[in-house]
Parts: sequence; structure tokens; C-alpha cells
Amino acid sequence: MNYYSTRNTSHVVSYKQAIRRGSIGDGGLYFPETIPSFPIEKLSGMTDVEIAYHVLSPFIEEDIDNSRSLIEDMMSALKFPLHSLGQNQHVLELFHGPTLAFKDVGARFLARCLSSVRKADEDTLTVLVATSGDTGGAVAHAFSGVEGIRVVLLYPKGRVSRFQEKQLTTAGGETYALEVDGSFDDCQRMVKSSFADQELSKKYHLISANSINIGRLLAQAVYYFVAYRDLSTNEKVNYVVPSGNFGNLTAGLIAKRMGLPIGTMIAATNANDTIPRYLQTGMYEPQPSVQTISNAMDVGNPNNYERIRHMYGNSVDRCKKEVVGYAYDDKSTEQEISAMYRDKGYLLDPHTAVGMLASRAYREQTSDNSSHHVVLGTAHPIKFYDVIEPVIKEKVPIPDQLKQMLDKPKKAYLIGNNDRDLSNFIGDLPQ
Ligand SMILES: *Cc1c(COP(=O)(O)O)cnc(C)c1O
Repeated sequence: MNYYSTRNTSHVVSYKQAIRRGSIGDGGLYFPETIPSFPIEKLSGMTDVEIAYHVLSPFIEEDIDNSRSLIEDMMSALKFPLHSLGQNQHVLELFHGPTLAFKDVGARFLARCLSSVRKADEDTLTVLVATSGDTGGAVAHAFSGVEGIRVVLLYPKGRVSRFQEKQLTTAGGETYALEVDGSFDDCQRMVKSSFADQELSKKYHLISANSINIGRLLAQAVYYFVAYRDLSTNEKVNYVVPSGNFGNLTAGLIAKRMGLPIGTMIAATNANDTIPRYLQTGMYEPQPSVQTISNAMDVGNPNNYERIRHMYGNSVDRCKKEVVGYAYDDKSTEQEISAMYRDKGYLLDPHTAVGMLASRAYREQTSDNSSHHVVLGTAHPIKFYDVIEPVIKEKVPIPDQLKQMLDKPKKAYLIGNNDRDLSNFIGDLPQ
């Protein structure tokens, strides 16, 4: 399978090249030349690993020799239970992986693919990633112990949860956590500028592990199929996706084009509502990000807008037939966490809570109670205990294994909010 730039369809590369380059430089992102179809009639009898294999192998098998064992290995630490709340309402719990966030899925897949395509005698590769909270932890964990690949991650100072910060700054080994005096958008901008610096980028073999990297995104299509199997239905299912950079939602759109019977894709955002506004007005007007309690979605200029726009041939009208969007403020999010805990005894993290609000809004708007709604549960509530405890006015018990992590000393490098500080830091790394 080849991949082309969404801005220039004659710029075509292999999967290997697409994941190593990550970003292209013409403003476009890589996109698969064809979307394979999934043997949907066989879905009900498949295991999770078989589903992953059928979804992923057509995208990678030409470039990855050991694709079956790679996929098995990726899936070995993952499970995607569907938690039913009654009345056709479900949460797909994507947070049972090593760092308790759905980003483990894409990060584990990308780490294995990169390790497979790296030549044994090559210089060290440098994975460079900006994180609004969860990506960095998942990437650090997925790459730890992968020989010949180091991780440099940037996170916005004071804007990640305590738990997330510990995950980011205690990975050790070949992971460097940079604490940036700025917002996530600043981190993202700085990372982009390092990639744009040809000399630096080449010398250190910089690779992106953000959702601009197609290698992270593809694996996220898997759990949409897993959830559909577990619903044992033949009807179309609506998926609700708490969204920031819209990688997860884009993966759902790919699953749909592979043949999964998805009804509507419901995008849920916090106050960073660039896409819901786009769907409403037809104007794409990115804004500086604002800080919220669902911080992993604090993205003002979602990078996968580029792929979504492309998938609908630049037509917002076509997009609106398949995707709807809703945005919520922190107060509504807190009320949702509190109400769900009180009424159903189910603890939502702030991101999943935003999804739950959007799910309800769409049901009300369409007066449709008979369709299944699957809300993607993107993070474990424990990761946000500092947000949740004051809301439910109870202590959230922290498992022992996680307590140990909270006691580990933080190791981070404080850097300024400017491109030069980052390129200097990278330039000082051993080559
Ligand atoms: C990253 C993240 C999101 C947003 O996912 P995108 O693919 O960037 O839209 C939502 N919730 C949590 C918990 C996340 O970590």
C-alpha cells in the first residue's frame, strides 16, 4: 500500500517512508492510496487479534515482514471492554493499556512498526512529540526498551494532570521530557519548526509520533470493529468521539470506509470547538487553545482536520452528512461526571464525560432512542483524580502500583516557549 500527500496526490511514498517522515512539509498529511474493505460478514467470529490483523495488515504488509507477530505483540497488552449503561448507551473502555489512555493503542503499533523498519546499523532515531497530556506517556512507554530509538517529548507546564506529569517525567532511559513554559499549541508549533529545520531533522532522524503520523492513526480503527462485534447487531451504530486533534475520529471514518456499519460520527469537544463551529458555519477558523479540565482535548487547530477535509473533498456539506459536532464547557462536564456517578455508579474521566454529553444531545436532537451509541472512553478516571475528587466529593482509590509512580522523582528539562530552545536541546543530544 502506498500513501500520498493530501495536498499533492502525485507525491507518493511507501508505508515505511510515510511513518518515518511523519509530516511532509507541503501542509499535507499522508493518506492511504486505497481503503481496503474488511470482511464484515466474518466479524462476529473473530477474536480481537484477528480483527486487528484484518484491519491493519493490508495497510502495512508490503513493508513490514513480520506483520502478524507485530500485531499480536501490539495487542497483547490491550483489551477494549464495552461497558453498557442501559438504554443502548455504551462506553467503549479504551483505557486498560499500560498508561491507561487510548493512545497506548496507536503508540504501541507505531513503536513496533518503526522498530521493524529501522536498519540495524543505523544511527539512533529521535521520536519528537508534543503532548497535551496522554500522548507523551503512551509514547514514552511504547518506545521504552526499543533499541535505537529515543523519545523527546514536550508538554505545557502546569497544564497536565499530576498523574500525567508523573507518567511523562519518570519514564527514564532514552526519554527526555521537556517542560515548556507555554500552551500545547506552542509545543506543537515548536515541534513543527524542528521538523521544518532540514539539517536538524536529517541529522537526528526526527520522527513524529503525533497523530499526524499515519502509523499511529491506523491502529485506532481496530477498536471500532471490536465494539461492533460485541454489540451483536446488524444495525448501524453511532460512535461518539471525545476529540482534540481528531486522530481518533479520523480512524473511525476510515473504519467506516472499510465497511463498518457506522451511522453518525459524533465529535465531542470541550471549549476548543474549532470543528463543531466548522460543521455549523462551514468556516474553518482555528483559535488559540484554551485550558480546560479535559486537557488532552485542548487543541485550537486540530491537525487531522487536514485529513477529514480531504476525505470529503473539501466539502463541509458532505462532511456534515456523516459527522456532527458538539462542544461543552467545564461546568457541564463536571455536572456530567457527578450525575453519572450518582445515578449509575459509573465514574467518567473528564474527556469521556464530554462524549457522554454529546451523545445525549444527539439523541435529543434526533429523537432516536433505538440506535446504539458507543462513547469512546478515552482515559481511565484515575488519571484525573485531581479533577474528579472535588466533583464527586469522594476519594478515588489509587491502586498501589500507581501510587509507586506518584512517589518517583520528576525528571524534566524546563525550556522556553521558543523554537530556538528546542533546536538547541536536540542539538546537544549525543548523535
Ligand atoms: C488524546 C486524547 C483525546 C483526543 O484524541 P484525538 O485523537 O487527538 O482527537 C481525547 N481524550 C483523551 C483522554 C486523550 O488522551
